[in-house]
Amino acid sequence: MSNPANYRLNSKEVAQATMDWLGKRGVSKEQIGQLVMLLQKDYFKDLTLDECVTNVEAVLSKREVQNAVLTGIQLDMLAEQGQLLPPLQNMIWHDEGLYGCDEVLALSIVNVYGSIGLTNFGYVDKFKPGVLKKLNEKNGKDVHTFLDDIVGAIAASAASRIAHRKQAEREAVEEALGEHTQAE
Ligand SMILES: [Mg+2]
Repeated sequence: MSNPANYRLNSKEVAQATMDWLGKRGVSKEQIGQLVMLLQKDYFKDLTLDECVTNVEAVLSKREVQNAVLTGIQLDMLAEQGQLLPPLQNMIWHDEGLYGCDEVLALSIVNVYGSIGLTNFGYVDKFKPGVLKKLNEKNGKDVHTFLDDIVGAIAASAASRIAHRKQAEREAVEEALGEHTQAE
């Protein structure tokens, strides 16, 4: 344990650890991007997977998000190793439906992005598309009680970010066109 007097937060280290641990736990930015695509493709016909991944990266660059990812993955891993105290160990191991703290931790991600993020989070949590299906498969070894909600929340937040940005772009274009017509 480091000496409190010498402790300094290293933001780059936290960001890097977040990406590393997501990868080690079997989740790529592309897989989260595919969830974003699923959530937004009906609203923006020209949306590309690259754009979705860029928005996932932007969400992952936020400290609140990194903190939630690292905390959730750590709890999943401790449960895999049987290191948590009872009865919490069993609840997280079995992904107990009435536990709920996994969703609450994930909400700390969605909260940064407003109500569209919240709606989308509810949707992916219910239908568990793509990588979320894989994370929810119980094989008696891996625990993803926290990670599935966190991944859903990152996707929902990126979807919300896209919705807000596209609207802002649309308004900027309309405004520019309006000024153009007035000038003519
Ligand atoms: Mg869960």
